[in-house]
Amino acid sequence: MGSVKGFMDIERETPATRPVADRLKDQKEVYQPFPLEKYREQGARCMDCGVPFCQSATGCPLGNAIPDWNDMVYRDQWEEALSLLLSTNNFPEFTGRICPAPCEGACVLGISEPPVTIRNIEEIIAEKGFENGWMQPNPPQKRTGKTVAIVGSGPAGLAAADQLNQAGHSVTVFEKADRIGGLLMYGIPHFKLEKTIVSRRIELMKAEGVEFKTNSHIGVNIPGNELMENYDAVLLCCGSEKPRDLPVEGRDLDGIHFAMDFLPQQNKRNEGDTIPEDISITARDKNVLIIGGGDTGSDCLGTALRQGAKKVCQFELLDEPPSERKPGNPWPQWPAILRVTSSHEEAQEPVTQYNVSTLKFTGENGRVTKVHAVKIKFGEPDLQTGRRPIEEIPGTRFEMDIDLVLLAMGFVHPVHEGLVKELNLELDGRGNVACDSKKMTNQKGIFVAGDMTRGQSLVVWAIAEGREAARSIDEYLVGHTFLPHSEWL
Ligand SMILES: Cc1cc2nc3c(=O)[nH]c(=O)nc-3n(C[C@H](O)[C@H](O)[C@H](O)COP(=O)(O)OP(=O)(O)OC[C@H]3O[C@@H](n4cnc5c(N)ncnc54)[C@H](O)[C@@H]3O)c2cc1C
Ligand code: SF4
Repeated sequence: MGSVKGFMDIERETPATRPVADRLKDQKEVYQPFPLEKYREQGARCMDCGVPFCQSATGCPLGNAIPDWNDMVYRDQWEEALSLLLSTNNFPEFTGRICPAPCEGACVLGISEPPVTIRNIEEIIAEKGFENGWMQPNPPQKRTGKTVAIVGSGPAGLAAADQLNQAGHSVTVFEKADRIGGLLMYGIPHFKLEKTIVSRRIELMKAEGVEFKTNSHIGVNIPGNELMENYDAVLLCCGSEKPRDLPVEGRDLDGIHFAMDFLPQQNKRNEGDTIPEDISITARDKNVLIIGGGDTGSDCLGTALRQGAKKVCQFELLDEPPSERKPGNPWPQWPAILRVTSSHEEAQEPVTQYNVSTLKFTGENGRVTKVHAVKIKFGEPDLQTGRRPIEEIPGTRFEMDIDLVLLAMGFVHPVHEGLVKELNLELDGRGNVACDSKKMTNQKGIFVAGDMTRGQSLVVWAIAEGREAARSIDEYLVGHTFLPHSEWL
């Protein structure tokens, strides 16, 4: 523990965001640099609790040794802090930027004071590592002669590839997109995670011997069975890509798109690609409606504002979250409270309407021009299912002029057509790919990790899943493993 009274003497501080007017002109990350001394001070707020809930099951899914590296940061022991952080997290430069930080929700200091600034400290430890040349390619000393094919290059596939490569197996990652990274590359906007950060890591992994094959759609242009024949084990990390739809009247009008048809186009433009006119979706000069009040909706908002939307509005079916924890949501649970994202800050006025249900869309010449909606409330929960029925509030129907609708209501499960059907993979009750405690599917030698089996989740959970699958695959291939366990899976 660096400073015994740090938590009493020092206030929580986080890096400031750049002025809204500036950041709306570009796609760069929204935070300003934070002096190194400030990070050290923030590390000193850590109380080094006897039971560090920040790294428990309700805190960091990776079990990051947070109090230890907070102390090392306070003591200026950056290289030691990096080495400890990398022992539990393959990609702290990603989570240090975009993790919602459940660790901070479980921080003991958070019971009575603002929690320790954990996520930002994680980011700076990783960045110091790159800056000082400590992140060098570290290929395995010996190869085992075993081969593993990984399908999907999101955080789950990348974490598994990194672990399996370190264990000496020869790993090939197949990706259907033209760039590596999954949602880190196509989906999550540049203003949250600049893509040079993703490519920097991919280059490091390549130098360590991981092979990447883009434009390889397994189950479509390469049969899944081919991988089974040519590799000793196969790991599927294809994400949860089937979006939740809104089956209301007028849904098929032009101008209504899924968020994931919209966001990756902007990622591609930022990377210098040209989107053909006939498929290009942009918010420029449009009245935009985003349906869904979660993080994907917030990413659509920030992107639409940067594209020069005339007006943006967001509908959310659920109640507005409270500003503080409710009694049924005590510490150290994830606080289900209202969060103002950087995109909402950029809108400069409240854009989200809560308890709104979309009734239908109408249009002219085949293009959407209006949304028709109503205010709702939730009735008493059903005793058997626990579900609360939705009740329309009489006299609250309204309509609104719109030119572009972005559907951001989450994802239901992985795509079943293609690979999942070809390999006859068993599904769980929610349509995700089922697996046993070793992350093996019903097909011997085929493993699964990340959103594809867990359902729509977080980058940090995808990394934990990838690490756990790697451990099981290593054991399957050579009969034992020294790869670490993901404690909370
Ligand atoms: C818009 C958006 C913003 C988000 N923001 C955050 C955030 O800020 N913080 C956070 O923690 N989480 C965020 N998430 C969630 C997070 O990105 C996911 O939980 C995480 O990326 C899941 O990782 P994964 O590796 O399982 O799958 P993915 O990242 O979805 O990667 C799956 C990859 O598999 C490829 N693939 C699929 N099928 C095939 C096939 N048959 N052949 C070859 N390749 C295939 C896909 O092209 C994709 O590249 C966000 C999600 C979205 C949609
Ligand atoms: S990965 Fe997320 S939960 Fe874990 S320490 Fe980092 S910010 Fe916290």
